[in-house]
Amino acid sequence: MSQPESPQVPVGGGSGNGAPAADGAASIAALRRISKRREEAQERCELCGVGLPDDHEHLYDVGKRQLACACGACAVITDVRSMKGTYRRVPRRYLALADFEMTDEQWEALAIPVNMAFMTTGSDGGIHCHYPSPAGATESLLTLEGWEELVEQNPILGELEPDVEALLVNRAGEGHEIESSDEHGHEYFLVPIDACFELVGLIRVHWRGFSGGKQAWDRIADFFNGLRMQADVHGGEG
Ligand SMILES: [Zn+2]
Ligand SMILES: [Zn+2]
Repeated sequence: MSQPESPQVPVGGGSGNGAPAADGAASIAALRRISKRREEAQERCELCGVGLPDDHEHLYDVGKRQLACACGACAVITDVRSMKGTYRRVPRRYLALADFEMTDEQWEALAIPVNMAFMTTGSDGGIHCHYPSPAGATESLLTLEGWEELVEQNPILGELEPDVEALLVNRAGEGHEIESSDEHGHEYFLVPIDACFELVGLIRVHWRGFSGGKQAWDRIADFFNGLRMQADVHGGEG
């Protein structure tokens, strides 16, 4: 039973009626990070209630398009019982697709207003392309022909596990010198669907105004740095 905490308010900062002081904003951000960590520390398996470490499994409800946190045992048992039905165990492979091919024309055909998108295949045979936005994941145009062309150019896409794995495209990092990116700094990842949810969630929470603002872009940079560290490089020279 923890005491309600009263955060230390800096005295004499004089931010009374004016704009919030910069360090005030920083300490709010720090408090948010702490409370976020607390929430994460309290995560429990949504099936059996056992406490979970930060790095835990997820089950995906294909019908509701929702993720549930799960312990290892429940993830396996539910996946087996569901028999590829409603609940699917979310895989945990992360690949940086080094020699991925997608032309600007192919990208522009998707009519996506941001520099990021993720594509999934459905166990119902559908093909979906979403992009993160302040309103959440928004569906974009992706024709079956457009997808089949991408799969032809990049056979790894034929191995995407339906519903629970995605192709994640990041064209925001123009000019970055990254091993797995092409000459334009465009990056392509094969990721579990929960990674896409994480990206959508952080943009929904942190995006401000038209261009997102520094806080959102810092979080997006953190997210992709984390992916690069976690992912195995697939294809390319290496
Ligand atoms: Zn469990
Ligand atoms: Zn979780």
